[in-house]
Amino acid sequence: MHKSQDPIQITSVSRAFGETHALKDVSVCLQPGAFSVLLGPSGCGKSTLLRLIAGLDQQTSGTIHIGAKDVTGTSPNDRNVSMVFQSYALFPHLNVAENILFGLKVRKTPKAERTQRLSRVAEMMGLSALLDRKPAQLSGGQQQRVALARAVISERPICLMDEPLSNLDAKLRTEMRVELRALQQQLGLTVVYVTHDQVEAMTMADQIIVMNQGRIEQTGTPHDIYTRPATTFTAGFIGTPPMALFDPADLAGGPLPDVRQPHLIGLRAEDMHVAPSGPTARITGIEYLGADRLVSATTGQTRFIMRMPAAAPVPPSEFPLGWSPEAVSVFATNGQRLTQY
Ligand code: ATP
Repeated sequence: MHKSQDPIQITSVSRAFGETHALKDVSVCLQPGAFSVLLGPSGCGKSTLLRLIAGLDQQTSGTIHIGAKDVTGTSPNDRNVSMVFQSYALFPHLNVAENILFGLKVRKTPKAERTQRLSRVAEMMGLSALLDRKPAQLSGGQQQRVALARAVISERPICLMDEPLSNLDAKLRTEMRVELRALQQQLGLTVVYVTHDQVEAMTMADQIIVMNQGRIEQTGTPHDIYTRPATTFTAGFIGTPPMALFDPADLAGGPLPDVRQPHLIGLRAEDMHVAPSGPTARITGIEYLGADRLVSATTGQTRFIMRMPAAAPVPPSEFPLGWSPEAVSVFATNGQRLTQY
């Protein structure tokens, strides 16, 4: 029932609120059965795009297709999508069973079918023992599971989620990430998930859409986006610490590609090391993280952070910086990746 063959095709979509251009000519295809994450800083337009897909808001221009159907102008109910929000939006006066069944009742699904679907979904979501409780008698994680169950029971093939885990504490969030991803795969759901948390995006997504100021910076798998960021924005947004960006003059004496236009060199923290020779790095601070150490340093005018195993000797305050030549990213000074590297 959940499985969909229908991609969500967004074509040249813009949304303006007066002078605010929340989305500027956005085009992207969200694959059926995939977990797609809209990722970006606050205000970049993620929720606006999700609301347009849901039919809760209308674009100023452009089209949205679900499968072959142009859904522009249709109501949320006609789009066959379910939704889960950050706030859960549970009804406080209804118990868990009534909350989960609310949508099916509104759609006048026969009682026998409702009962059958409820017991199946409650069991799958670990809620069978809690069906008589009111939302106030549940933990945050249980409330979130009820909100998910309400989406799952609709058996709609597309589920739109806006920061559904952000009200949970860190430990529960980690558990729910795993649960949510397993559920999506088990049901073959098409999920579109909004977050500003790159860890959520990296751990759950098949496809990440990195957004910035109303535009898409890059679309790709978590691995693509981490190892081959398309822009300096993505390089700086993804990764903890973010990719270091060097003026090539500050790396003179090390292995550098031959690039004939003004550019910057990007290196991930784990791709740098203490070398026998190379440009001089000066340590400004060291953070011990258990398995690793983060070494903050400068070379020339560039500040950077290098990750090294905690078991390795602590480097002296000045050391020759080395890096893996194959790990180098090269960006033009306008921020675009120079694709040959
Ligand atoms: P956050 O992570 O903070 O929720 P977001 O990436 O989801 O951010 P949006 O909520 O899509 O961002 O907002 C994008 C831009 O559009 C922002 O500048 C926001 O202020 C503006 N905006 C969104 N909705 C409205 C509205 N109804 N009226 C006016 N401006 C709006």
